[in-house]
Amino acid sequence: MLQLALPGGGPTPSPKSRVPDWSRSKAPESMAHTLTTCTFCGVGCGLYLETSGNRVTGAYPSMSHPTNQGRICVRGWNVHEVVSSPDRLKSPLLKKDGRLQEVSWEEALSFVAGRLQDIRRRHGPDALAFLNSPRCSNEESYLLQKLARALIGTNNVDHGTGVYCNNSIQVLLDMIGVPASTNSISELARSEVIFVDGVDLGRQLPTIGGWVIRAKLRGAKLVVIDTRRHRVAESADLFLQIRPGTEVTLYGALAKVILDQGLADLHFIRGHCRDFDRFLEQVREYDLLAAAAVCGVPAEAIEQAALAYARARAAAILYSTGIESRSKDSIRAIVNLALLTGNIGRESAGIYALTEQNNLQGVCDMGMLPDRLPGYRAVGDASARRTLEALWGCRLPDRPGLGARTLLGDSLPRAAKALWFCRYDPVSTAFFGDAASSLSQFELVVVQHLFMTGTAQQADVVLPTTAFGEETVSFTSTERRIQLANRVIDPPAGPLPAWQQLTRLAQVLGADWAYASAADVMAEITRAVPSYSGAHHDNLAREYGRQWPCTSDKPLGTRFLFEEGVQGRPFRFVPVARPLPVSQPAGAYPMTLVFGHSLYYWHQNVLVRHSETLKREYRILLLDYPEGFVEINTDDAKALGLRDGDKIRLSAATGSAISTARVTPEVRSGTIHVPYFVREVERQMLGASEDDHQLLPVRVEKEAA
Ligand code: SF4
Repeated sequence: MLQLALPGGGPTPSPKSRVPDWSRSKAPESMAHTLTTCTFCGVGCGLYLETSGNRVTGAYPSMSHPTNQGRICVRGWNVHEVVSSPDRLKSPLLKKDGRLQEVSWEEALSFVAGRLQDIRRRHGPDALAFLNSPRCSNEESYLLQKLARALIGTNNVDHGTGVYCNNSIQVLLDMIGVPASTNSISELARSEVIFVDGVDLGRQLPTIGGWVIRAKLRGAKLVVIDTRRHRVAESADLFLQIRPGTEVTLYGALAKVILDQGLADLHFIRGHCRDFDRFLEQVREYDLLAAAAVCGVPAEAIEQAALAYARARAAAILYSTGIESRSKDSIRAIVNLALLTGNIGRESAGIYALTEQNNLQGVCDMGMLPDRLPGYRAVGDASARRTLEALWGCRLPDRPGLGARTLLGDSLPRAAKALWFCRYDPVSTAFFGDAASSLSQFELVVVQHLFMTGTAQQADVVLPTTAFGEETVSFTSTERRIQLANRVIDPPAGPLPAWQQLTRLAQVLGADWAYASAADVMAEITRAVPSYSGAHHDNLAREYGRQWPCTSDKPLGTRFLFEEGVQGRPFRFVPVARPLPVSQPAGAYPMTLVFGHSLYYWHQNVLVRHSETLKREYRILLLDYPEGFVEINTDDAKALGLRDGDKIRLSAATGSAISTARVTPEVRSGTIHVPYFVREVERQMLGASEDDHQLLPVRVEKEAA
């Protein structure tokens, strides 16, 4: 029998167990099974939705989808519950007399159009800003940035995770010319060495975690680099549990070992890379023993990892571009290592810039970036602007716009007067500033969403959207796979697809937008985004989508980048300055406080909150710590006389906070880990500083009960 168990949880229910019990019903309505795409995370697993009449009754994995091959995680099994949530918004809402009230679509859209025009006239186009969620489809992302740029005249567009992931885009564009994962997920099956750096695959991207573990079982060498011990780390051949903030030093030391051992791929470097000499000069400064001391891991382990990586026929590095903040230098260091060993343009090798949200890749491809047009061309590039101006029939602004952090951060005065949020809920999910109090300072807040989110509650206008399964739109996964999520039921009366809302608003604003379907929008995307030029809804419906670049001369797409061979010297080394030694906490503040991801994060996700099964799965983890927690290593807790659940006081030069201790061997000794969602601790500890990336020296004391 088919086994569908996954690393993310216990036994997976068989499709059979999800067949409804008909014993008490009259006659079963006709049932259908439609292939679609899971819209939870960036893996983009293929799954079937089971429908009965106009109800979605279940989900189960596609056996033949190349990314998941019969496996999905607990989120995929329950993704269909969201659509039947009783909390769905049913009609447009407009704030009247201080209260959101139901209105017609005509009234809502005409109010919004009037207010946008008024604010633009009084304050100029840059007084308006448009932010979306990395869960938005390609079609709605494309139209949102087109509305901002072509109709309003501003580059103030960004996606909710722009604050975190745009570093990766910029570095990859600069060094390899393509801002995406180079290789396909299924190629990991034949990688000889896999580095997993700073991402908890078992929790965040479980299907990829499964590929990595199976590769390891087949003989691949698994090296995990992280400050936390997680499930994939437990299976690693080498677990480099480094001190927080020492990634650049580690990669410098790995490169030094490879060069000293004569394992650099000089043929690849001379043929395809620029600026190697400057890189070489900088790497010579590294000393293995000194680097090992800085990183807090044995020099032998660094050496073994370097030798394994350099000697492999195909070696892959996986890192997260998502909520985990990565400095540009740490990403440059990863790319340098791949170039040094020729691990680009090779099957089962490469760099995997993992996107945690289901369409983070596509949202960026569509130009939801303040400094990049669709297809990543710079807004300052006159020739790129001319191409789009001809397509859109307008003049485009040439100055980069403002990103989400600037628009929503705590600094005053506000740069913008009106904010548009497409499926984005910063009040509940932004890890910066205080969005809840910021929103009251804007003249107009418009929210498109399925639910009455924290952000929607503060909006002037709320526009209800259709849900997964109610519209056919496309998403682009972390392996550049553009694929359809299909309409399997009719939406309820009231909500409209977000792309249709934008089209109708543009028409009210006087534009001649005439998209009758999301397929029409994609037809225009093929002309605006060169790497999507061969991707139409009818061919995306076949063979599990297409991986970009998908062009007219390459209609089947691209499994791994540069698969036809590397032409010329498109790659570039970027020397990374050797970091100053991380000052070791001492004296009054002997430990280091780190802000970071947590396996508990998913409980905040708006889709999880509206799926009964997932709510139970993810919230149960927080029952022991109803007021949140900070994590401390088991040995450190013992030395301080702390037990799990004790109240502790954290003190730093910038502030202090009281929280609950979660004692765990997962965090490194000497560190205190604060999950991003524990906002109170973050605010109290950082004081006026908004920099949640900093490593803060702290003192920990038991608080009297
Ligand atoms: S791994 Fe991601 S895409 Fe796959 S089923 Fe789970 S949530 Fe969905």
